[in-house]
Amino acid sequence: MKDDYSLDAVKDIFTKYLAERKHRRTPERFAILERIYSYDGHFNAEILYNAMKEEYRVSLATVYNTLELLLDCKLIVKHQFGDQIAQYEKTFGGVVHNHLVCTKCGKVKEFSDKKIRTAIQNKKFVHFDTSHYSLYLYGVCSKCKTSKKK
Ligand SMILES: [Zn+2]
Ligand SMILES: [Zn+2]
Repeated sequence: MKDDYSLDAVKDIFTKYLAERKHRRTPERFAILERIYSYDGHFNAEILYNAMKEEYRVSLATVYNTLELLLDCKLIVKHQFGDQIAQYEKTFGGVVHNHLVCTKCGKVKEFSDKKIRTAIQNKKFVHFDTSHYSLYLYGVCSKCKTSKKK
């Protein structure tokens, strides 16, 4: 598991990936990567696009395209909570956390648990090298629970 990282290391991974796949190394793509790594927690493409367009001339298509590239080189992960629009999250540098997903309203709460973390970090798999993880726990949030009783 990689808990420590630097933005330079992350950029390095992206640079190598783009070169290998013969994709253009545009400043916009790196600006998007930097922006993403300044976030803690979840974001969606629209939030990212709105933040980016204040400083750069980027199109929504560029944002989506860059997200696909970053997913492909594992620098971000994509979450699909219920039928909501996709949410993204950086892979490195964030606090390792899990998700409580309400199956009624789709609300997502994050939680970390030291015991779970230690258990997973100590778990060794044959022919498998764990890089990161995230758990999803499904249920009903307190708000939905109370409204059901009414
Ligand atoms: Zn999360
Ligand atoms: Zn709910």
